[in-house]
Amino acid sequence: MAAVDAILVTGGAGYVGSHAVEALCRAGYAVTVVDDLSQGHRAAVPPAADLVVGDAGDRPLLDRLMATRPYHAVMHFAARSLVGESMRDPAPYLAGNVRVAQAVIDAAVAHKVGKLVLSSTANIFASSDGRPITEESPIDPGSPYGEGKYMVERLLHWADRCHGLRSAALRYFNAAGAHPDGHLGEDHRPETHLIPIVLEVALGKRPHLDIFGDDYETPDGTCIRDYVHVCDIAEAHIKVLDVLDERSARYNVGTGSGYSVRQVVEAAERVIGRRITVRMAPRRPGDPPVLVANGSRLRRETGWAPKLPDLDSMIATAWEWRRRHPDGYVG
Ligand code: UDP
Repeated sequence: MAAVDAILVTGGAGYVGSHAVEALCRAGYAVTVVDDLSQGHRAAVPPAADLVVGDAGDRPLLDRLMATRPYHAVMHFAARSLVGESMRDPAPYLAGNVRVAQAVIDAAVAHKVGKLVLSSTANIFASSDGRPITEESPIDPGSPYGEGKYMVERLLHWADRCHGLRSAALRYFNAAGAHPDGHLGEDHRPETHLIPIVLEVALGKRPHLDIFGDDYETPDGTCIRDYVHVCDIAEAHIKVLDVLDERSARYNVGTGSGYSVRQVVEAAERVIGRRITVRMAPRRPGDPPVLVANGSRLRRETGWAPKLPDLDSMIATAWEWRRRHPDGYVG
């Protein structure tokens, strides 16, 4: 990489995006973030990056930015990302997320940015029979959120075939944890994700955790997920850039280990040293019972290996951030 390579990051003020921006800056890239701050946080953008507050789907804005300097790649994170919300209100996911992505892809093609890395999701896959999910596993999105991401993957397929735009779709399993320095973390409003909610219960900000269903066909009846540290996900974005010199690619990003909701609660109690009160609740629509990655293709082809693969480290780093920022970025 030339030290001056520039990367445009949409949604770089969000949870995964901000960790990717931090990793890119540390690796010596010049980073421009486009984020409308509707879900992201100004304070999550590292000072080394330029922040442009605006809609990632605003084509004239993208044209202006891409005309000012040559970008080596675009990393596209900007999207609504809540499975449950997408089941209640699908349009922003099936139309909105896809519209924004189309604008980013069109701008990248028009300005001859040769590489695009997409923040995709394991929610594009049909629920597995418990076996780890490979890149060849059947696609059957579990929600409008997953469907919208898959539609964007198809847009990228055709952008490569028709215009030569190389892309990597990174299907994250469950992003978890926070930067070990304690300065970046997870702050969604409203918060719907398991680990941050568990931490809010530990802090006394919520009375209990609702466990969404304990009648799934899993050993303890609760859903199983593959939690992967957000810094390891960030690193994967940098690793795949070299692959894009040759071709487009799709990768599953996970550790290959699955943990049930109950196991996450037990790990949090162990790490934090406090009891987490739980309450049983009905299943949440759109949740597949088991999602565990076979991440061997990413490891084999890029040399990626998670540095913080154990659940306790994910919870410990998330807890450290949350302890330091009990009110999130606002506080
Ligand atoms: N979950 C839960 N209670 C909550 C939030 C999440 O039981 O308050 C469960 C959810 O049903 C899923 C798992 O925890 O099985 C992970 O959910 P999360 O929203 O963190 O990530 P997702 O798998 O939807 O991407």
